[in-house]
Amino acid sequence: MIYFDHNATAPVIPDARQAWLEATEQFIGNPSSPHRIGMRADAALCDAREKFAAILECDPLDIVWTSGATESNNMVIHHFARSLPSTAEAWISAIEHPCVVEATQHYFPGRHRFIPVTGNGVIDLDWLAEELSEKRPGFIGVMAANNITGVLQPWREALAICRQYEVPFFCDAVQWLGKLPSNGLGACDFLSGCAHKFGGPRGIGFLKCPTRGRVRPLIFGGPQEESRRAGTENVSGALSLVAALELRERQIAAGKMQEPGAWRDKFETTLRDSLPDVAIAGAGQERLWNTSAALMPPIGAQRWVVKLDKLGFAVSIGSACSTGKETASHVLLAMGFETAQAGRVLRFSSGWETRRSEWDELAAAAIQVYADAHPVKNQTAA
Ligand code: PLP
Repeated sequence: MIYFDHNATAPVIPDARQAWLEATEQFIGNPSSPHRIGMRADAALCDAREKFAAILECDPLDIVWTSGATESNNMVIHHFARSLPSTAEAWISAIEHPCVVEATQHYFPGRHRFIPVTGNGVIDLDWLAEELSEKRPGFIGVMAANNITGVLQPWREALAICRQYEVPFFCDAVQWLGKLPSNGLGACDFLSGCAHKFGGPRGIGFLKCPTRGRVRPLIFGGPQEESRRAGTENVSGALSLVAALELRERQIAAGKMQEPGAWRDKFETTLRDSLPDVAIAGAGQERLWNTSAALMPPIGAQRWVVKLDKLGFAVSIGSACSTGKETASHVLLAMGFETAQAGRVLRFSSGWETRRSEWDELAAAAIQVYADAHPVKNQTAA
């Protein structure tokens, strides 16, 4: 099976596996325990925190380890709900991950607004600057890169506008981390991410808070993480996350994403040239080099997934969290797609280990699926 669903989750890479196994064997203690075995685990966790903070360019004490980005995102929105005045509004982009959208709807009922996006899937910065000159929300949330289209969001510019108006800025960097350079992300007031999108294990993520910030805990019952998140820390997970990200940062610094980006582009050209009615969501915009959200000829997105699966390719129809639901992706609707169009978008997402031949084989498989669904009519019988 050839895997084109890395934006949902990616295989654990050898460096991360090795780091996880070594940590599990070496650091058997609980980092909160008072004896030397516990202290060794705590020291290893501190070391991982320092390395990770150096990559993000923030204070190590800004980092809170969590179970993953869904928890981190819920934690930050819960924090704002508990710490802001009861009239404060939440403004988030219209294309945030469901865990941000639904947590915002839950904690800010009737007090949230969606920052609109253009037809290319990028947030409307003019809208943001104009609205902020009139009114101040309690916080603003804009993701770094979209999980469905891969469209990069102008998070640096949004952060600068927020600074100007002194509004806290929260960035979900799940899809950016490990694919593009992480430096500078630590400047965001709140930042979330997880290891399993870039080759680390599932079950470990982080929330970066303002410098040594007091963030309201979502989980109670212990003093861990400076009383910001109770529960025994996942030491092996944190060490493994750092090992995976360090490798990815080296690959990024060496420019190793240029070639895979070109393979993805060629795949899209082949689809457009070979099949009718194909369009790429966000094609005119800067995108993650691994992602392609393609509007396919109308045979039904689920049918495409099943047929491609039978041919040996794992692809997605949207974010993993919405797979199986019949509702059209809110991301595509926000970009102006009709409901029926949004229903025939497939998401192809490669990984660092994906080969050029695999993109070519995927294009050939898509062409075959279409041909099988549209057999050429027998001219003589007609
Ligand atoms: N945010 C974005 C942009 C995502 O793509 C995902 C997962 O797909 C999440 C948050 C949730 O991450 P996790 O699976 O670590 O809970």
